Amino acid sequence: MELYNLKHPSQVVSFSEAVKLGLGKDRGLFFPKSIPVLDNIDELLALPFVARSQRILGAWLADEIGQDKVNELVNAAFTFDVPLVKADGKRACLELFHGPTLAFKDFGARFMAQCVNLLAGDEKLTILTATSGDTGAAVADAFFGLESVQVVVMYPKGKISELQEKMFTTLGKNIHTVAVASDFDACQTLVKQAFDDSDVRDGLHLNSANSINISRLLAQICYYFEAVAQMKQTSNAEIVLSVPSGNFGNLTAGLFAKAMGLPIKRFIAATNSNDTVPRYLAAGDWAPNTTVATMSNAMDVSEPSNWPRVEAICEALNWPLSSITGVALNEAQTTAALKELYQLGYQSEPHAAIAAQALSDELKSGETGIFLGTAHPAKFKDVVDVQLQIDLPLPQELEAVVNKPILSAELSVDFTKLKEHLFNILK
Ligand SMILES: *Cc1c(COP(=O)(O)O)cnc(C)c1O
Repeated sequence: MELYNLKHPSQVVSFSEAVKLGLGKDRGLFFPKSIPVLDNIDELLALPFVARSQRILGAWLADEIGQDKVNELVNAAFTFDVPLVKADGKRACLELFHGPTLAFKDFGARFMAQCVNLLAGDEKLTILTATSGDTGAAVADAFFGLESVQVVVMYPKGKISELQEKMFTTLGKNIHTVAVASDFDACQTLVKQAFDDSDVRDGLHLNSANSINISRLLAQICYYFEAVAQMKQTSNAEIVLSVPSGNFGNLTAGLFAKAMGLPIKRFIAATNSNDTVPRYLAAGDWAPNTTVATMSNAMDVSEPSNWPRVEAICEALNWPLSSITGVALNEAQTTAALKELYQLGYQSEPHAAIAAQALSDELKSGETGIFLGTAHPAKFKDVVDVQLQIDLPLPQELEAVVNKPILSAELSVDFTKLKEHLFNILK
């Protein structure tokens, strides 16, 4: 597989290099030189999830790492169910939250961890990442126990929920966590300083595991095929996919799936009040506002980092951007959507509820809708309990960590101290 840098097309790299580099020159995104098209989609849809995913990812990666390795990576990464659950006659939720950290980010993080472990060879790598919540848990869990990789996750002390904190700070072994006495932006700045410091970058073989890594996106293509495979068992209607969006990695993966030949009629990009993309699709003007905090906080992004990839796919396939429908919901509309689903008998959470409501608003006759369930409702227990006046039980994954001790080091915002700490724990 060959990829080029969207900002500097002359920079061409292999999949292995793209995984290890993350970003190209001038922070440009890597984009595939060509998108494989699969024939015999019906036969593919009839396969079980893991066998089908091996074929899908093989179409991208077998030329570089071999089909046998692809099969191993998929076996190790995709170890949980992906049910499609009906909400009402026209809408069903593809539940992507049955992995170990209860969010769809498990798919990408687990596949990336397997890729990094394979591609690192004898080199010892350090994943250094900052989190405001969900990504830290998915990345820490995915890399836990892998021999060639050490992970350092930094997070703002006291600024994430206790449950979120427990999910990644109690693991130990190769997972090191640092509580920084400041906010998320300060954590991100420390990460950037580390990548800019050649002692640290080269001495510790730094890699960031953030969502722009191409291995994470490729993994996410697979569950769109699962969505269509399950829907086709009960319906012949044309399928519309509604994607709760923040950085737009998820939508990018969906567009790749369609480009590979998956019969999805069209996509809805659903956001909260951070609505840069819906406004852009409606008026053609890219005008990010200041990010505002919402109850669907994993989508509180006003400058989505994957957007150039969305445009690149549309350009490559000659799809007008207007074929993507933008929908933005404010907080009151999000609450109403969550309550409506609950009355229908489907317990959800704010991110998926936004995507579900967007389908209600936009579905036409002859169409059926799938919205992506990106997180387990219990991960947003504080909001869901209040809005629905219920007391959600904790799933076993969360129950298992609530009483474990937090193993984090505590640091002030001081790069010299961080550097000292990193060399202490990693050398
Ligand atoms: C990360 C996240 C999103 C946004 O996904 P993108 O790929 O960044 O658009 C939506 N919902 C939840 C629960 C998330 O954690």
